[in-house]
Order: sequence, then structure tokens, then C-alpha cells
Amino acid sequence: MRYGEGLLEEIRRRTDLVALVGRRVKLVRKGRVMWGCCPFHAEKSPSFKVENERRLYKCFGCGKGGDAFKWLTETEGLSFPEAVEKLAAEVGVELPKWSPEDEEREQKKKSLYDVVELAAKFYEAQLFEPAGREAREYLKGRGLDSAAAKQFRLGYSPSGNNALISHLTAQNVTQDDIIAAGLARPAEDGRAMRDFFYNRLMFPIGDGRSRIVAFGARALEADAKPKYINTGETSLFSKGSQLYNFANARAAAIKAGTIIVAEGYMDVIALARAGFTHAVAPLGTAMTEDQLHLLWRTAPEPILAFDGDAAGLKAAHRAAHLALPHLKAGYSLRFVFLPDGEDPDSFIAHNGAGAMSVQLETALPLSQLLWRTETEGRDLSTPERRAGLEHNLKEIVDRITDSKVADYYRRGFDQLVFENFKKRAPAPGGARGPARQVFRPGGKFRGDFKPRPLPGSPEAVSSSVQSSALVRAGQAGPRQANEAVRAAKETELGRLLVESPEIALAEAESLAVLDLQDPSLDRLRHELLNLAASGSSLEKAGVQAHFTRKGMAELLVRFAGHPVEDPLASFQRAVSDLRELAGHPTDARRLLERRKALSDRPNDGRGNI
Ligand code: ZN
Repeated sequence: MRYGEGLLEEIRRRTDLVALVGRRVKLVRKGRVMWGCCPFHAEKSPSFKVENERRLYKCFGCGKGGDAFKWLTETEGLSFPEAVEKLAAEVGVELPKWSPEDEEREQKKKSLYDVVELAAKFYEAQLFEPAGREAREYLKGRGLDSAAAKQFRLGYSPSGNNALISHLTAQNVTQDDIIAAGLARPAEDGRAMRDFFYNRLMFPIGDGRSRIVAFGARALEADAKPKYINTGETSLFSKGSQLYNFANARAAAIKAGTIIVAEGYMDVIALARAGFTHAVAPLGTAMTEDQLHLLWRTAPEPILAFDGDAAGLKAAHRAAHLALPHLKAGYSLRFVFLPDGEDPDSFIAHNGAGAMSVQLETALPLSQLLWRTETEGRDLSTPERRAGLEHNLKEIVDRITDSKVADYYRRGFDQLVFENFKKRAPAPGGARGPARQVFRPGGKFRGDFKPRPLPGSPEAVSSSVQSSALVRAGQAGPRQANEAVRAAKETELGRLLVESPEIALAEAESLAVLDLQDPSLDRLRHELLNLAASGSSLEKAGVQAHFTRKGMAELLVRFAGHPVEDPLASFQRAVSDLRELAGHPTDARRLLERRKALSDRPNDGRGNI
């Protein structure tokens, strides 16, 4: 550690912790101690105390506590050295200079920041020069105006003639510094030093303090390879331990309680423009352990948003396994898979911000993602294969190093295996004769794995078409909210169909005429109706195998859900809600009668369809 305990104590002593915490939490004095409602867990009566005398805060509800440094790391997402620097500056403690070599390295870095900043300004200006026309048109085509370009400091690197080197040299920047900043390739093989980036759209990459340290660059020629390149490793930039847009996203993420990890820079910009300012992206590589820890310093359950294609599934699987050894109490990941062929940018353009909110709010917990990747689309009909599944699940649990978390995962998986394969399914009202084992891969963890209620989830929305969580949150206008409700309804419908495909047989007619917006759901419907028409039984395992064989397993993931009590009634409700949303008001009385008739029927559960 760079700072001695004596120095840290001096900063703590000079810091008015009550005032510092008081910036975020309303505190009331009781004797020598200040009390307030804990900012780390939801509560109505104060159990969070702050003491200037002992220079500590502590919550008796959730147990969070610590000193002024801890407070800043927990509430502002700063690293420990950043928290020390910030408080030292506030209370006027001068931090020690290090060895002369350290000092020189720091000076050197400082001048490199200036060099990269000069380059960023140059690229920004070029974007609005005649040479930047193509880049501007590309942005326009992606729905980004000059305000968006300015917000993210986008730029253009001109082609040929080493324009950046000339510009920086004219500003007295040395060739060594230009190369050290990763902005030029050194002279070699008889070729002179030359610009690293040319004819590309430039995305400046900032560090935790918003200083530009590197660039991501997108080719403008359609056939250029690779499409994206980044600054190489420099003393300022390490692609595996930084994240695109992190400094901007950090404050928003702490406020939102979560952080979104998108796949690319354009996704982050599209999300931010749609109001999701808490979005970041890795820098041209798959997510690393360092990045995972950076994310966890900001939010306990980052949401990883992937395209719903095979590559997206593979990346999610990889991220899930990367996280396993690092899981600890309260810290995990959640996953969103967008419909096939969509990235956040196109998804928001097609469906609106409200639909994106719904996607984020219904993100899959890590535990469910792991269960699904081990079971879905797999034929687990033989004892050997089921034993193989148990072996795989054990391997997952073995990779979790935190014993408490591992224990909960073990119990959760045991429960799922028991429910799916070992328990004798109850005979549905005796209608089916002897009970048989039913494979339900969408099963949820029980007990400790009960996911927290998610406002705006399809389940929550389905109770009333009108009461949209999005309207309440004021995040979207009525039209967007309406779209969000419809998207949620359609997702619900998709989940019902994946969970109980027999519905497509019983309700083929109403399903066929339904007006659907979601192309994935449309494909799902089309495929199910085809199967029904060809005389297939539409039994779940068979349908899943069929989809997997036809390379449409991602539809199963996209609409993965869990069994509901009365799928047919839920289906009919969803259909009439969707018809209402599409402007086909259903005769309210007829609907009521129909619902009553349904609830009066003794058995219309899954077994009876
Ligand atoms: Zn608390």
C-alpha cells in the first residue's frame, strides 16, 4: 500500500464523517450519535448510525459499516486510493511524494494524458471537417446527431498522410511520447513512423477519473478488417482492467442499483441516449476478472446484456464460469438475451426504451442461467444422462470458492434435480392416470433462491394491463409504456408457449390470428403451428428437441420461464390483453363470463390440455 496508517488516520481525523454521510443520508441527532435510514437496504425506521467521535458508520439492519474511505468506495464506487486522494484533497492533507523514480514515472504519465487529450481534441474537430463527412453519415445512419457525438466526444481519424503526427509535432509533442501514448506505429523496416488510426470513427476511452487514456476505432470502409481496433497496452491503458464509459456510468449505476454491461461502444451510446446512463462495455475483449471486480465495486448484481444468438449464449456461458470462483455473499451477475438479430442499439430503435426496461428488469439470475445451460435442449431421458447432469452441476458448485455461496448453489441444484427427475409428479386430477416424471427445465430455485420481486416483470405486469411500472417510474411516455406492456405481454405469451407448447394445439386458431410485434415470438408461433398441423403431439420435451435440432435453441432461452398453475387460462388472458392493446376491445362481459367459465372448470391444468 502506498499510504501509511498514520497518514490515513490523519485524514480520518480531519474528515467530518457526519457531514460527509449527511450529503447522501438525512441524519437526526440522538445524544452523541447521528441516526438515519440506511442507504444500503430499504428501511422506514432508522437503524443506521454515524459517529464522528469514533469516525465510523454502522447499520444494525444489514450490517454495513466502516470509515470515511469505506463510505466513498461503497457509495461512489471509488477505489481505495481514489477515496484517499479525494478526502485528502478535501481536508487539506498533502499526500507524500514517492521515490524520485515514481515521481518521474508520474510526471511522464501526466504528460501522456495531455498527449492523448490533444489527440482526442484533434479527432473531435476532424469529425466536423469536410474529411469527416463519411463518419458523420455513418453516425446519422445509426440515429446519432451531433449532440450525441459531442456527449461521447466521438471523432474521426483522417486517412493517410499522418495527420495526427503532424498535428502533435506542431504542438511540440515528442515522437517518443506519441508512440508511448499508442497513437503512432514506430518507424520500422524502412518505413517512417505513421499514424496508428486512419479513416476510422473514434471512440475516446476514459479512465476512472474521466481522463482520456485510449481510443476504440471503427472502420468506415465496409470491408475493412478488423472492424474495430483499440489502442494497444500503454502505461495509461490496460484493456483488461478498464471499461468503456465507466466514469460516466459509475454515479448513475450507484443510483440505479445496478450496472449494464453491453457488448459494444455503440450499444453503450444507444443505451445512454435512451436514458440508461449506467451502461459500460468491455474494451474489445471478453469480460475479465479485473473488470468483474470493477463492476462489483459499483453494483452487486451487474446485468450482462447479450445478443440472443449463439455467440451471445457462448459469451454469457463464459462470463458465468468466469464469475463462479469469485462469487461471494450478495454479489452475482444477471443476464439479458435480446431477441435474435438484435443488439441494444437496434432493440431500442425497434421497440422503445420501455421494452428495454422490461428486458433489464426481468434479467435471469446467474443460478438460473447455469441450470438452463446444463439442461435446456438436452435429452435427459436416461439414468446415465441424468447422472451426467448431476456430475456437471457438481463441477459448477466445486468451482465456487465461497463455502456459503457454494452451499446454497448445491442445495438449489439438488432441489431442482429432485423436482425434475426424482419426485413423482402428482396426477393432475386423476385425468391422466398414473403419475409420470415430467422434465421442467425452466424450474426455479426454491427457498434461498427465490428471486426478488421485479417491478415491471411480465408476471407483475400481467395482473393489470394498465398499471405499468414504467409509467409509475416516469421513465417513458404513454406510448412507450404501452409498447413496454405489450412487449412484456408478448414475452409472457412466449414463455407460456415454451413451457406448455400443447397450448398451440388447443388454441391454434386464436394463436394464428394474433397480431404479434416480437419477431422471435412470431417465429415461435409459426414453428409451433407447423408442428401442430403436421400432427405432432407438442409434448414439451419433443418440442424442445425439435427446436434444438433446427438450430432455434435461442428461442427457448429467449422465452425460458417456469410452469404456471393454469397455462391455458393464462394464455387466454394474455391473448385478450394483447388484442385489447392492439385496439381490438374485447367485449368485457363476454370476457368475464369466459374467465368465470374457465375457473369453474374442474381441471384445465397442463395435464388436461
Ligand atoms: Zn442497512
